[in-house]
Amino acid sequence: MFCFRDTFGSVEIAFTDRHGGVSSPPFDTLNLGAAPGDSPEDVEHNYEILARELDTDPGTVARMHQMHDAEVAVLRQAPPPGSPPRVDALVTDVPGLVISARVADCVPVLLADPEAGVVGCAHAGRSGMAAGVVPNTVRGMRELGADRITAWVGPYVCGACYEVPEAMQADVVAAVPASRSMTSWGTPALDLGAGVESQLREAGCSVTGFGSWCTRETPDLYSHRRDGPMTGRSAGLVRIRR
Ligand SMILES: [Zn+2]
Repeated sequence: MFCFRDTFGSVEIAFTDRHGGVSSPPFDTLNLGAAPGDSPEDVEHNYEILARELDTDPGTVARMHQMHDAEVAVLRQAPPPGSPPRVDALVTDVPGLVISARVADCVPVLLADPEAGVVGCAHAGRSGMAAGVVPNTVRGMRELGADRITAWVGPYVCGACYEVPEAMQADVVAAVPASRSMTSWGTPALDLGAGVESQLREAGCSVTGFGSWCTRETPDLYSHRRDGPMTGRSAGLVRIRR
């Protein structure tokens, strides 16, 4: 169910893996994504299982319709099911509301200032990272009163696996220099997690390490690069405890 789960003061954070749900292959089993292919009923069932594990109601788990961009929504309540905000980051100061970012190789980022009672989450893929979704999330949290922000960078496709064309690497590195990488077979690559971490530190956040997994190299996690478009999505989740 979770590849990492922890509490940090009043804040609870978690990253899911692919186990414990009901989806059939190739989405087996805890697919939390909305991409076509899997049964929508199975995906909703997976959210019910997840909510039960978090000891909450599925209606309190806020999702995004992710755009690979840099917009942030401030949530005061869970959006109605079926019409999630078209953004790539959420921030909230509402206890009990779970906010989530879904990924299959992109970087899930969770952020919290437990003392101020403000949390955030971001889906940082190549485009979103370059467009600044992470600094925008930090700004959104500060507008809600966050000051000392800690961030967790969840599992993503590592810099030794994420091959990109040279021109694409040049474009992204121009925006985020720390994302430059090389594959283990010697071709141009991007390390999105390293890029995100540099943006977090520049924005004044502390970044907490908890080991690192590469989604492509870890069969317990979904990976678009490894499995192609017919794969599931895992999620990073954060909430302020009531
Ligand atoms: Zn890797």
